[in-house]
Amino acid sequence: STSLIFYSQKRKKDRLEKSFDQRPIELRSDEIVNGVTGLIGNTPLVRINSLSDALGVEILGKAEFLNPGGSVKDRVALRIVEDAERLGLLHPHTGSRIFEGTVGSTGISIATIAKARGYDATIIMPDDVAEEKVKALRSLGAEVEQVRPASIVDKKQFVNLARDRAAHFGHTANPRDSLIRSSSSVLVTTTASEAVLHEHGTLTKEEADELENKPRGFFADQFENRSNYQAHFEGTGPEIWRQTSGRVDAFVSGAGTGGTLSGTGQYLKSVNEDLMIILSDPEGSGLYNKVKYGVMYDRKEAEGTKRRHQVDTVVEGIGINRLTHNMELGLDIIDDAFRITDAEAVAMSRYLVENDGLFLGSSSACNLVACIKFIKSVGWNDGQRVVTILCDSGTRHYSKFWNDEYLQRANIPVDKQIIYDLLSQ
Ligand code: PMP
Repeated sequence: STSLIFYSQKRKKDRLEKSFDQRPIELRSDEIVNGVTGLIGNTPLVRINSLSDALGVEILGKAEFLNPGGSVKDRVALRIVEDAERLGLLHPHTGSRIFEGTVGSTGISIATIAKARGYDATIIMPDDVAEEKVKALRSLGAEVEQVRPASIVDKKQFVNLARDRAAHFGHTANPRDSLIRSSSSVLVTTTASEAVLHEHGTLTKEEADELENKPRGFFADQFENRSNYQAHFEGTGPEIWRQTSGRVDAFVSGAGTGGTLSGTGQYLKSVNEDLMIILSDPEGSGLYNKVKYGVMYDRKEAEGTKRRHQVDTVVEGIGINRLTHNMELGLDIIDDAFRITDAEAVAMSRYLVENDGLFLGSSSACNLVACIKFIKSVGWNDGQRVVTILCDSGTRHYSKFWNDEYLQRANIPVDKQIIYDLLSQ
């Protein structure tokens, strides 16, 4: 039996030596990442084959649904937290808590990053959002508070309440906030916070000491927080430029906070001023009118249109009726806007499953309809390239957008033919 052991040891040794003989395998720097936050960003561009072939124009979608929290918002949440840490407004593992008011994917991203970096999270949302979102947040360890839907001017509206709760938990306004805001017309290539710190110095030692080791609240404030814009200006934009080797003719995006469109768009315009920036806007949003006619909405139309957040548009995450700071940062670079109906977005989502095996959420579908409308409007058919954002996957939308019975009750047709018609016009 000793000889058997000896024999098996020798075989092991041979095997090891053999493997050392082989050429060393080089690990690409992105093959092992550092924790869950290492999975954020650097998403691939996927060529949408059916649409590209039909149009003779390459349509490339940035696959943001591959982020660990399932959406484009992971980038934003990470940047918001990193900037707050850099400014000394958040210290990990001190029992500090991040607050956000959101109906969408931002809550999931905030909850994920909070846990990854040593914070707790409180997400405040209206009480009519899909139950699966609340479950996902609770599974991620977030505290969820649900309140009656209310207008943005109401103190009990969920965003206002999140700001309030954070203040009670010790959120002190970013001392540099007004400076960041006042420099909003100037595009800085460093982060807003770094620029401000550079100009005005960091917190004093006493200020910093006082904040350290003390549990504090922090209001993430995705609509007004410039870190949102910056995540795209330094992330999404440069990634698209690198991935296309600079061969890209247009960028199409919707806007919820405006961060994606403004940040990515400003970066792409800064490297190629001929590149076109196109807004994809769902029914009921005021942005289309703002871009086309300079007003958010005219009274007549507002009366005729069901206002977003009150009722039943099935497209979630994009479309707004007020100008947020992150939207303002990109308004002047939008070359054209297209209004997308619920029926068109629904049709696109079903068309993509049928033809490409892509199962996407409502804002991604809107963006792709806008790509077709834009390409038709400029008459491109010669291999030009259009990049858009695939914000999240269909799995986030089972209760409305991907629920045929719900759509039927809401009188929204589910008809792929709408897309074939658009393509053949
Ligand atoms: N799509 C989805 C699904 C979203 O949740 C959001 C964010 N609200 C967007 C698109 C729009 O992104 P942004 O906030 O950067 O305008």
